[in-house]
Amino acid sequence: MMYEYFKNLESSLEKKINETPKSPNARKKYSLEVARIGKRLYSGKDKIAWTGIGVPFDILNTMGITSCFVEFVGAMLASTGASGNFIKEAENTGYASDSCSYHRAILGALSQNLIPKPDFLVGTTLPCSGGLAVIENMARKFKKSLFVLNVPQEDSLQNIKYLSDQLKDLVNFIQKETGINFDENKLKEGIKKTNKARDLMIEAYNLAKKIPSPVDSRILKDFGIVTALMLGTDAGIEVAKAYRDEFQAKVNSGESGVKGEKIRLLWIQNRIQFRYQLEKWMEEEFSASIVIDELNDITWEKIDVDDPFTGIAKRIISIPFNGKAEKRIEHLKFLAKEYKIQGAINPCNWGCRQGTGERGLISDGLKEIGVPVVNLEIDCIDQRNFAEGQVKTRIAAFIEMISN
Ligand code: SF4
Repeated sequence: MMYEYFKNLESSLEKKINETPKSPNARKKYSLEVARIGKRLYSGKDKIAWTGIGVPFDILNTMGITSCFVEFVGAMLASTGASGNFIKEAENTGYASDSCSYHRAILGALSQNLIPKPDFLVGTTLPCSGGLAVIENMARKFKKSLFVLNVPQEDSLQNIKYLSDQLKDLVNFIQKETGINFDENKLKEGIKKTNKARDLMIEAYNLAKKIPSPVDSRILKDFGIVTALMLGTDAGIEVAKAYRDEFQAKVNSGESGVKGEKIRLLWIQNRIQFRYQLEKWMEEEFSASIVIDELNDITWEKIDVDDPFTGIAKRIISIPFNGKAEKRIEHLKFLAKEYKIQGAINPCNWGCRQGTGERGLISDGLKEIGVPVVNLEIDCIDQRNFAEGQVKTRIAAFIEMISN
């Protein structure tokens, strides 16, 4: 079922891109690569790994492993409107309804045998312990080996060395589990591609900062976190280039992403993954645009191809969700200033300690630089209790407040 879904998605996107090759197509190219990853995960032919967030996908890609963080499945099920059934299934088998629904969705799908068996699993200690618990659960169910990356929270020479040594151990683990030999030259080539994609993404983000911004509220949804899956590949470069080119063309012609852009917003943490009309409505009613997401930023330096493990370790440690809330808040302030933001929306994803637990600190931090925050209570995956009318009322009042 899932294989057919991704296969059909892939062919319909290929057709659309080929029919209008000169039209803006960045989002279509992004979706096409996502469909291809999904297809490979469910093909039964590729070596696959289920992982946590922050895993070095460039290492996995250059070793020929199709890999994906488990939260992607929750998001994908929500986008197809199917997550509710799986979340209910997880709750019926005893998982607490106040845990993150990204995780409940995948646990429900797991219990219904809809998750393909991996060759191995890689967990990380960031951004949350819930994700690691799900990976442990999957490893037990599939009777497959699990490697856990223990990511230190502080950026220090000692910690970078500690994590880069673990990355080398991870390579040995993959060799043992799959029989695939590690090829240093392949990793070097992959790192060159990672660096190229990084440069293009920085260019795209810098263009998104322009006033008016060439982005609308949807084009960069989930972009940063999902393109991490493509690091070390030509596909990653292709997608980043498509975004850079599309934004550059718009800036050159003076075209804004949202007609008559009046309000520039920052979206904190995850977007809502099921279908809804909030962003389009904000654009049409208020000329308000989400020009930056917290998860869309490059926080890491170019990686030295002759010392890739150190560079990758630095990249993982740099993720703003790794470490104290202060680090995350400083990053949010930085984004708010860079993108000249007037207000921020925090969905406070239900069951997320980061999303709900830090809401007060985030509001206070952004208030210090004059950026108000509206804290919502949304479950970004579970549509069953989503009251769109109430959310619209809150946002309308918020936009009215920041417009005055
Ligand atoms: S929303 Fe929160 S709890 Fe859920 S996966 Fe993300 S960080 Fe973890």
